[in-house]
Amino acid sequence: MNGARPALNVIMLGPPGAGKGTQAERLARTRGLPKISTGDILREAVQAGTEMGLAAKATMEAGNLISDDVMIGIVRDRLNREDARVGFVLDGFPRTVAQAAALDEMVNGRGPLIVLAMVVPEDILVRRLATRRICSKCGATAAVDWNVCGKCGGALIARVDDSIDIVRERLKIYLRQTDPLVNFYSTRGTFRAIDGNQRPDIVTAQVDAAITAATSAAGAAQ
Ligand code: ADP
Ligand code: ADP
Ligand code: ZN
Repeated sequence: MNGARPALNVIMLGPPGAGKGTQAERLARTRGLPKISTGDILREAVQAGTEMGLAAKATMEAGNLISDDVMIGIVRDRLNREDARVGFVLDGFPRTVAQAAALDEMVNGRGPLIVLAMVVPEDILVRRLATRRICSKCGATAAVDWNVCGKCGGALIARVDDSIDIVRERLKIYLRQTDPLVNFYSTRGTFRAIDGNQRPDIVTAQVDAAITAATSAAGAAQ
């Protein structure tokens, strides 16, 4: 390995509103890793009006999942880019067992896969999503104290799919399609559940501690 640090491959698992994006952003910054958010990639494609974006728009606005084939292709291409050799923080992928199985193959030989499952009660999720704002220009999720985007100054807006009816639909789909991933991963030494219903800074500290613990568990297993 030429003394290079081992890759740090992390996935953020959890329902809509659990704080995956918020924590992924912090982790990516402090550890110098690319943040790969499939929701962001899709929203950028919608805004840019690409073929993929046009095909995805209605599905996303209804709160349904994009097909596994499309999502697996997007993530495979992204992980093959040079900057992901040091690892990555994945936010919003995998969301189905088929995606998780494909990810295992992609990561095979690239170091351990650390799985952080953020746990937040449903009533809190609904409340958070009702007030979530994103930048209309760059798509960043607004921090609590922003009146305009802290990155580019753009106006803040609600996400179409954060309206209450769509949120209920997304939570149902989460339970049906994505929650089974907790069982898929939970027997691995690199799995950690995190109480996401705490102040963001406390969650960040626990994310950090979980990564340290999971990394040494992975080392011990080798
Ligand atoms: P996800 O990516 O899992 O859907 P986000 O990171 O976008 O979740 O967070 C959803 C909303 O909740 C955002 O408005 C965000 O600012 C807010 N939020 C994130 N983490 C916390 C937290 N620990 N406590 C309170 N609100 C939070
Ligand atoms: P949230 O932050 O609320 O968890 P995301 O921003 O991750 O939501 O995703 C928004 C939408 O993008 C999803 O409702 C879905 O339509 C689509 N999407 C994102 N990631 C995936 C994925 N891995 N598989 C299928 N659809 C996805
Ligand atoms: Zn912005």
